[in-house]
Amino acid sequence: MKQLQRAKIDDFKAHFRGDVVLHSDAAYDEVRQIWNAMINRRPALIARCTSSEDIVQAVNLARKQNLAVSIRGGGHNIAGNAVCDDGLVIDLSLMKGVRVDPNARIAKVEPGCTLADFDAAAQVHGLATPLGINSTTGVAGLTLGGGFGWLSRKYGMTVDNLLSADVVTADGGQVHASETKNADLFWGLRGGGGNFGIVTSFEFQLHPVGPGVLSGLIAFPFDQAKSVLTQFARFTETMPDDLNVWMVTRKAPPLPFLRADVHGKEIVALALCYAGNPAEGEKLIAPLRRFGTAHGEHVGVQPYTAWQKAFDPLLTPGARNYWKSHNFSRLSDGAINAIIEYAGKLPSPQCEIFVGVIGGQAARVAPEAMAYSSRDANYVLNVHGRWESAAADERCIGWAREFFAKSQPFASRGAYINFLTQDEGDRIAFAYGTTYNRLVELKKKYDPTNFFRMNQNIKPV
Ligand SMILES: Cc1cc2nc3c(=O)[nH]c(=O)nc-3n(C[C@H](O)[C@H](O)[C@H](O)COP(=O)(O)OP(=O)(O)OC[C@H]3O[C@@H](n4cnc5c(N)ncnc54)[C@H](O)[C@@H]3O)c2cc1C
Repeated sequence: MKQLQRAKIDDFKAHFRGDVVLHSDAAYDEVRQIWNAMINRRPALIARCTSSEDIVQAVNLARKQNLAVSIRGGGHNIAGNAVCDDGLVIDLSLMKGVRVDPNARIAKVEPGCTLADFDAAAQVHGLATPLGINSTTGVAGLTLGGGFGWLSRKYGMTVDNLLSADVVTADGGQVHASETKNADLFWGLRGGGGNFGIVTSFEFQLHPVGPGVLSGLIAFPFDQAKSVLTQFARFTETMPDDLNVWMVTRKAPPLPFLRADVHGKEIVALALCYAGNPAEGEKLIAPLRRFGTAHGEHVGVQPYTAWQKAFDPLLTPGARNYWKSHNFSRLSDGAINAIIEYAGKLPSPQCEIFVGVIGGQAARVAPEAMAYSSRDANYVLNVHGRWESAAADERCIGWAREFFAKSQPFASRGAYINFLTQDEGDRIAFAYGTTYNRLVELKKKYDPTNFFRMNQNIKPV
């Protein structure tokens, strides 16, 4: 850091209650790391906030010193926007408070919470709200992009369950946003990502869930893929809201319920979760077992919090990751054929193609009700390129891009903003679709200088 800046930093540190991490600190390399090891950025300083006052101070420092700013919640975003080069990372990951009011079925959640933090606190009262499927993901980034998971068919997108948010704006001001206060900002926060300010507290609606849910995996041989996928596509069009079934095709990890000779071979797995009475769920999932002759299954009643962590071992931080994603309103034969073709040439043992199912309650909200507009995205395809060494970058990224292009003709409109990589800036307007113009207007009002631009950026022009 230059001398002048050093004095400013010392001044900042004198008033900041959290940790300030600089290049020279031992913790620097650890703290700047995020989930996707493809991202290797070197910020000038990292302000690890402990309160909304810390966040205001960090925003003011960046504005006055003209520093680039990035915001870090759970650090999971594939595009790596949580970290910037040479600027200020406003790191919220130490702010992990969750306050549950079980009578009102409401939770107040701080922006450093992971899904595991939130789920654990809410499940003490037998409650939950729809979140994602990997418990180490940050609640903040997931919510601001839309958020969907096992409970979304029953209770909607994560943003459908957001009641209000406290926000620090680009000028360092603090505002409350809800349906009745700063309603325009509240509209934009529900899908508009980190474009409008820094959320210091989220207030969510909770619902009774579990504590035990019928859930698990059924794994089929890859040579049955066409039949399994076709039946999956039709079954998921009419299944009740309480049930969710996702599809993942990949090389089999060494799961104990699979024979050793299946490990490392391509499989098609159905992952299911039933959010109602398990006995009812058992009847509803019976047809899934007849989609083919399964290698094996691991299905039963388990704590909701355990199912929320079921995929964590496959999604650990530190690997190199590159994603591509489409929305589908319906999984056509063409889409199924493309999935099978590219699942048949996975470029690394960790690459996978998954199809998340939404629909249900999430599809019943009007597309213009809030920034997240993809209400016809009944299926979200994620081409998940994942590998260990930089030497495989070209091969794995090439595979993901090729499959993305091949499956594009069968996709519907929009895209999930939370699955876009850093090279997909040109897809942002397409991703939002009908709400994009209104988002631009909102950006002009709340962040006219584009102070918050390390995100899937909505430019104020
Ligand atoms: C393994 C894995 C599994 C996933 N599974 C799902 C899933 O099942 N469902 C789903 O919907 N998504 C899923 N996602 C995508 C996930 O929603 C996004 O990656 C999301 O951005 C992660 O949020 P984060 O807080 O961890 O990320 P970060 O990288 O910390 O933040 C992402 C961006 O959000 C903004 N941001 C973060 N915090 C704030 C804040 N407090 N105020 C304002 N802006 C903020 C910033 O622009 C930041 O760059 C998954 C991601 C991964 C890596």
